[in-house]
Amino acid sequence: MTFESLNLLPELLRAVADQGYTEPTPIQAQAIPAILQRRDIMGCAQTGTGKTAGFTLPLLQLLAPQANASPSPARHPTRALVLTPTRELAAQVEESVRVYGKYLALRSTVVYGGVDIGPQKKALHGGVEILVATPGRLLDHLQQRTVNLSRVEFLVLDEADRMLDMGFLPDIKRILAVLPAQRQNLLFSATFSDDIRKLAHQLLRQPLMIEVARRNATADLVSHQVYEVPAARKRALLAHLIRSRNIPQALVFVRMKRDANRLARELVRDGINAAAIHSDRTQLEREQALADFKQGRSPVLVATDIAARGLDIEELPYVINYELPYAPEDYLHRIGRTARAGLPGEAISLMCSDETKLLVEIEKLLKRTLPRASAPEFHHEDRKPHRLDEHRTPAKPDRHDRHEKRHAPKPVATSKPKAPGIDFSKPYEPAPSTAPKPQVSHPLRRQPSHPAAALLGGFSSPTKSHK
Ligand code: AMP
Repeated sequence: MTFESLNLLPELLRAVADQGYTEPTPIQAQAIPAILQRRDIMGCAQTGTGKTAGFTLPLLQLLAPQANASPSPARHPTRALVLTPTRELAAQVEESVRVYGKYLALRSTVVYGGVDIGPQKKALHGGVEILVATPGRLLDHLQQRTVNLSRVEFLVLDEADRMLDMGFLPDIKRILAVLPAQRQNLLFSATFSDDIRKLAHQLLRQPLMIEVARRNATADLVSHQVYEVPAARKRALLAHLIRSRNIPQALVFVRMKRDANRLARELVRDGINAAAIHSDRTQLEREQALADFKQGRSPVLVATDIAARGLDIEELPYVINYELPYAPEDYLHRIGRTARAGLPGEAISLMCSDETKLLVEIEKLLKRTLPRASAPEFHHEDRKPHRLDEHRTPAKPDRHDRHEKRHAPKPVATSKPKAPGIDFSKPYEPAPSTAPKPQVSHPLRRQPSHPAAALLGGFSSPTKSHK
């Protein structure tokens, strides 16, 4: 399968070739022809599958007949609207629109909250064919009549599950109410809850179901390790793992915004450059933290689930769950940040005894037992006077912290995944070992260009099963 065989315009083929893509990913191979045939789509796909190009390329092709270089705003009505849950994802999608549409005279812009609305109004006033937006800010523009959606022919809801999780359903409904009834609808979601299916039922007309990753399954290329450690020793273990494994870049997840700030601060005090990203930070601070992380100035980015959603960090090798998520689906979203575009990645979880129930839920969802890991040398080090200031315990230690603080982490027997069915870890899951890896280097990660899309097909074959 080639991009040429998908009958894409030469302008799009050129843009795709510029990106170094050699073949369509499975979702692209399915979505592009169907969207070009004007079908509604319900795509069950995690980020990292190439879904953005999967909807952007055909949208650009369908809009191409209207491409024109006229300066008149009237010649550039908004015809495609893409809604995303977060600012970062919105910015990334719009960037993709620009990248793939660079040889077409179509205009796009992105609007999201947390930044000055003035420049957005100006861009909208000039006319854009493709508008990428977060729901809240788009409503602001609608209220101020600085956007006109009466000519929209295409609607994309990207990461719809997260939009619902974030409580955007009322906003989405208000936006839907001002769109023309006649339009093509594309809905993408990593997971399919009943609410998503209800929304899809209201929105889509005889949609083509596309499922490139098994629902609620993890990418094959992610290897998982769970360290059992008392809550109060997590930070020391995190610092130890980052140092001893020479982890070059890790996205570290916590549940609460204030914990993101605190952990980043404490890591910096420990000599590890870290930044935090969460929804209470200004857009400028978020962008700065992300840029520092992407460019390697701070190897650790501490994030909350919502802030990290949709982040596309090229070749991110490690996701670390400093705390396990309350919702097991969030584990999937988190690890979706690594092993993108076919590259292998590692998901490390630091689990304290309070969190064993959360792990059980995650393992139930994944239908497998996650391999346990241990750090005997950390255990050993722990008996010696420690370099880190261990008295800097969390601001409000909970009962559990106080109780467990004095104990070193227990080395846990390693175990093979024992659940039947697909072994997700193949072929990159390292053999369970009690010794730490001195350094993890991925052979694929060094490759400069995007790896063959075939690697992205490492997900399960399409199935029609939905919850
Ligand atoms: P997405 O799932 O849309 O966030 O895309 C994940 C990553 O895959 C992005 O960094 C894209 O640049 C990359 N990508 C998209 N399509 C292809 C392709 N056909 N071949 C290789 N890489 C791709």
